[in-house]
Amino acid sequence: MSESDKQHKLFIKSMCMVCLNKVMSCYYCNGMGTVFVEASDKGIGRWLSKIDEERREDIMYHMEDEKGQE
Ligand SMILES: [Zn+2]
Repeated sequence: MSESDKQHKLFIKSMCMVCLNKVMSCYYCNGMGTVFVEASDKGIGRWLSKIDEERREDIMYHMEDEKGQE
């Protein structure tokens, strides 16, 4: 993993493993039984494959736009 990759992280909301099937609040989570965890490349790929085609195209558009600004 490059230094650049380490700086650019994406987080997803996930079920809190401490609170799972118990009281939905602990030191780690937000009181709703969810926590933010770093998204894996596999997870990002899975997410991208499940969203609407329109949204995916929109994301691709923004990606190209960002690249153009470098
Ligand atoms: Zn929790």
